[in-house]
Amino acid sequence: MDREIFIDQVQCSGCEACVEICPQVFAIDELTGKAFILDPLAGTEEQIEEAVVTCPQDCITLIKAN
Ligand code: SF4
Repeated sequence: MDREIFIDQVQCSGCEACVEICPQVFAIDELTGKAFILDPLAGTEEQIEEAVVTCPQDCITLIKAN
């Protein structure tokens, strides 16, 4: 299964919760202090869904495609 992950760069607070849950997919840009996607296909779907529901800013969007 293919997937795309988007992070709303305006809303992201750089709290690092997504990075703690799934460091294969999420990282913090040292210049902006915001999260970005390293590799949308890394990590398990469960990890990414946990990051989506844990994000305090509700700014991660997961799109699944076959
Ligand atoms: S959990 Fe959400 S607010 Fe926190 S760094 Fe990740 S994307 Fe940004």
